[in-house]
Amino acid sequence: MATNRTFTMIKPDATQENHIGGILSMIEEGGFRIVSLKKVRLTAERAGKFYEVHAERPFYGDLVKYMSSGPIVAAILEKDNAVADFRTLIGATNPAQAAEGTIRKKYAKSIEANAVHGSDSDENAQIEGNFFFGADEQF
Ligand code: ADP
Ligand code: MG
Repeated sequence: MATNRTFTMIKPDATQENHIGGILSMIEEGGFRIVSLKKVRLTAERAGKFYEVHAERPFYGDLVKYMSSGPIVAAILEKDNAVADFRTLIGATNPAQAAEGTIRKKYAKSIEANAVHGSDSDENAQIEGNFFFGADEQF
């Protein structure tokens, strides 16, 4: 089950600029089924916990501030090869390097405010999905 699921967030810059629908359309048109979906605002504490693996990186403090600066949309997505295919659909972390046709190419504003999150492994997809959604919220 875990191997065909990934987790995403539409980040505060993109929700603020009314790109939720556009991004969800690209996700569905990319062949992903939405398993779970919610709009929520992270506290700084919860954003810090989500990005704990980056705690030693120089951008961590700013990232936590940014990710708690406004609402995000969290979603679990399903598709064959979900983790890798979703990383392809979102494009490079730095939008300046993101390929044409990717979500970040179209919507990201900067390397930090880069519109969307995508899990980097099956294991993290499961951990991150369960961070936001209970078993009774995953269909
Ligand atoms: P990705 O989201 O592509 O997996 P990372 O896991 O490396 O990228 O980083 C997590 C998030 O931290 C990025 O999506 C971005 O919002 C932010 N970030 C990454 N690198 C930088 C950087 N050099 N400066 C500022 N923010 C960054
Ligand atoms: Mg990452």
